[in-house]
Order: sequence, then C-alpha cells, then structure tokens
Amino acid sequence: MHDILIIGGGINGVGIARDAAGRGYDVCLAEMNDLASGTSSWSSKLVHGGLRYLEHYEFKLVRESLIERERLWAIAPHIIEPLRFVLPHHKGLRPEWVLRAGLLLYDNIGGRRKLPPTRSLKLDRDVSGKPLKPRFRAGFEYSDCRVDDTRLVVLNARDAANRGADIRTRTRVVSATPAEEGWRVLLQHTATGLEEEVTARMLINAAGPWAADVLGGVVSDTAEASIRLVQGSHIVVRKLYDHDRCYTFQEDDGRIIFVIPYQKDFTLIGTTDRDYDGDPAEVAITDEETDYLIEAVGDYFENPPTRDDIVWSYSGVRPLYDDGASKAQEATRDYVLKTTGSESAPTLNIFGGKLTTYRRLAEAAMERIERVIGRQGSPWTGDAPLPGGDFPTDGRRTLATRILGEHPYVPFDTIERLVAQFGTDAWNILEGSSEIADLGHDFGAGLSEREVAWLMDREWAETADDVLWRRTKLGLRMDDAQAAALETWMRERRAGG
Ligand SMILES: Cc1cc2nc3c(=O)[nH]c(=O)nc-3n(C[C@H](O)[C@H](O)[C@H](O)COP(=O)(O)OP(=O)(O)OC[C@H]3O[C@@H](n4cnc5c(N)ncnc54)[C@H](O)[C@@H]3O)c2cc1C
Repeated sequence: MHDILIIGGGINGVGIARDAAGRGYDVCLAEMNDLASGTSSWSSKLVHGGLRYLEHYEFKLVRESLIERERLWAIAPHIIEPLRFVLPHHKGLRPEWVLRAGLLLYDNIGGRRKLPPTRSLKLDRDVSGKPLKPRFRAGFEYSDCRVDDTRLVVLNARDAANRGADIRTRTRVVSATPAEEGWRVLLQHTATGLEEEVTARMLINAAGPWAADVLGGVVSDTAEASIRLVQGSHIVVRKLYDHDRCYTFQEDDGRIIFVIPYQKDFTLIGTTDRDYDGDPAEVAITDEETDYLIEAVGDYFENPPTRDDIVWSYSGVRPLYDDGASKAQEATRDYVLKTTGSESAPTLNIFGGKLTTYRRLAEAAMERIERVIGRQGSPWTGDAPLPGGDFPTDGRRTLATRILGEHPYVPFDTIERLVAQFGTDAWNILEGSSEIADLGHDFGAGLSEREVAWLMDREWAETADDVLWRRTKLGLRMDDAQAAALETWMRERRAGG
C-alpha cells in the first residue's frame, strides 16, 4: 500500500511528491496526460512576489513569494534567472509616489538578498525608453525572476522519482473507493486503456483546474470545492526590441501586462484575467483577449506589434481559491489546503497557489500528511538543488564555456540552451561524444537524437509535443515536417523498447 497517491502532475503534485519521497514516504503520482500539460505550462513564467498583490493587501503572500524567489533561484539556477522590469509612470494612472512606495515595500518586505534593488529611471535618457512613446519620461526598474515553468515540473518529478516515487504519466485516476484503511484507487492508462487498482492510505487532490471534478467525481465527496477558474492568455511575437529588460505596463482597468524577452528571438506578452466556466482542457485564447493584449502594449510602444506578428499564443486556467472577490483579477493567488473524507480514508485537497510558492505549499501539505500517516523525516527541500542545479546562481555562462571546452564541435548556442534546460546534466547528455555525429541525427534547431533519448528515458517524454513544447520550446523554431520526423523517430524508438 502506498502512503499517498497524488492526483495530478502539475507543479503542486510533483512538488508534494518530491518532498514526501525525500522524507521517506511511499509515493505514487498519477498524471492523466503529460507532466505540466495543465496550468503549469501556461503561466507568465515568473518566480515573483507579485507586485500587484500588494494593492490587495496580500502582504503575507508577497513576502512568502519573495523569500521563495531567491530560494528557488539557488536550487535551480539553470531554469531560473533574474530579470529587470521597467515600470513606466503613466500619467492618469497610479501616481509616481504610489509606484515608489509599492516598490520600496516590494524591495524590503523580505527575501531580497542577491537581487538588485529598485532604481528610478529617466526613460528619455535610458535605452529602455527607446521603444516607448516619448510621453513616457519617468519610471522605475525592479527585480524579479524568470522560470522555465514546465522544466520546473519535470525536474521536481525527476527528483521525486530518484528518491523512490512512482511517477506515472498518461494515467488517469478514474475512481477512488474508501477501504477499511485508506483507499482503493482505479488507474487507467490513457493510451492502452489498461486498468490497475492500487491502494493508498491518503489521497492528494492536486488536480488544479480539475480539482472540483476529482472531489465530486473521482472521490465522490460532497464537500464543496472552493475553486474559481480564471482564464489567462499570452501571445508571443517576434522580438520587439534589442535590450534584455522586461516591461510592466499599467492598464486603465487596474491590471498590469508583462512584456518579457523570450527564448532569445521572441517577446512574450501577457496576461489576461477572466472568469472561465468551460472545460479546462479546451481553453484557448479568444479574439477579445488577443485584441486586449495588442491594444494594451499599443498604448506604450512607438512601434507596437500587430496580430500579424503573433507566432504563438497560449491560454491556461488558474485554479484559484474562491475567496468571494468580485473581480477575477482580485481573487487571491494564495493557496488553501482542505482535508476531506473520513479519518480512515482522507483526501487532502489543494486549492489555488502559484508556481512561486509550490515548495512552501508542499511543506504545508506535509504537515497535514504527517497528522494522518505519522511523521517521517523533516523539511529538506529549501536548499537541495533540483537535478542539474548544483552550480552557483551566476554560473550559467561559466558552465556553458567549460562544456564548450570539452565539446568544441557543439555550437555554443546549443550548449547554452542545454545548460538552461539541464544545468550540469548537460555534461551527462554529451558524455562520451567526441564529434557532432556522435549525437545522432539533428531534428532541427540543434535538437539531437541524444537529447531526445535523454528526454524519453529520464523525463517521461513520449510525443513530439512533449519534447517541442514542454521539455523544450523548440516548437517555436521547428516546422511541421521536422516535428513529424521527430514524432516518427520517437514512435519507432518506443516500439523498439
Ligand atoms: C495565465 C497564467 C499565468 C500565471 N503566471 C504565473 C507566474 O508567472 N508565476 C507563478 O508563480 N504562477 C503563475 N500562475 C499560476 C500557476 O501557473 C498555477 O498556480 C500552477 O501552475 C497550478 O498548478 P497545479 O499543479 O495546481 O495545476 P496543474 O498544473 O493544472 O496540474 C493539475 C494536473 O492534474 C491533472 N489531472 C486532473 N485530473 C486528473 C485525474 N483524474 N487523473 C490524473 N491526473 C489528473 C491534469 O492533467 C493536470 O496536469 C499563472 C497561471 C496562469 C493561468
């Protein structure tokens, strides 16, 4: 019998799996699709405090998030990196003193140790003012971090598996029935239809936007799922400007829009906030949202992007805790844990949260799990690097240069990408090769057979989409024929065992 069975392989499910497995619990996690195929791959890709949440007096959440920001950066310097955000003052919106006061608080509420503080900017004299309309003359620049959201999920899953967790992808939890002690859980492999029954002492409902379906359907519990689904969409356009800073643009509806340099040649723009009542699996950006984002940045840029510049867009559903806020944008981003079921067959339900706070959420979940199953181990994830993250926070370039020294036949761009995805594991992927041919066929954009084999063998990648849109973002650079060739190769490799 497993100690816990986790439903959902998004950030919260894998974060709990990693923490629990590291403490010695027997863990099984079932994800019905690919890891991070739900909300966790559709984020703004920031590890941040959430400057805007200060306006909603969410001081505890912002402080916890800012502490986590540097902690996560330290344990995953390959997939997390510092960014500077330029916040122009917009006459008619928040006054300059409000921005200054908010940023002062953001810098000092806790957690900022390595990241540089806020500074004032004269946009008419700074390079970051160049792409903007001349009427934006003053602003501020502050720190936050970027994260590769899907890789954060995959690396947590890998570490959980390394510590003994049974991670099953393409495995749906169909039903769960209380047993004398714990649960009998029916799992179904989504590709083969094969079913299997497993038992677990406790269920963890980490199904994100599907949490209500799991509670009401899979577990057949009548307890209320306090969840509010809020859609958020992004567009990706060709690179809009040449410097490396991001923008935080205030909108007249009180919202803010981020503009973030993305994957070297692109710019990411988002997000929106609207209540959503459809199937989370079917969520897609609407025309209205696209117009909103284009118009929002059009207010600021001298040469704004148009619809024709969009190369990719995506949409996700935030599974927020329903705190009764009137507007979607005001609903809390904090997490709430609720135990339901009986003493002998309990379920821990996860509502809300952010990528940024997943590790703390997992620690809070462990306190609940301990109460039911008994204590094992103690908190340990705060300073334990994720796979490949065992190098200093400012060490990416040094690592890439050292790898290039050993593998000079690999283009530096590819090495930099491998380091940003795998960190020190980039050595292991290239190990034993002494010329480019040793890495096998190049599917395009520097994606080699060697890398794909690693992703299949160690990161649960099964399809071309898993590789091109989740383990990497090379889907932005490869065409349909290249993707099809990759799909065929992966299928044949799987069939060959
Ligand atoms: C537009 C947008 C922008 C965001 N930006 C940020 C940001 O910049 N920074 C930040 O910190 N946070 C951000 N967030 C929030 C963050 O992305 C989410 O809080 C987080 O990803 C939720 O993770 P989760 O594990 O709860 O849910 P999910 O990632 O959705 O995972 C739940 C998983 O459960 C699986 N599942 C469901 N039912 C079953 C079943 N019966 N059997 C098996 N598996 C099942 C699903 O397939 C899914 O993969 C953003 C969210 C959105 C939507």
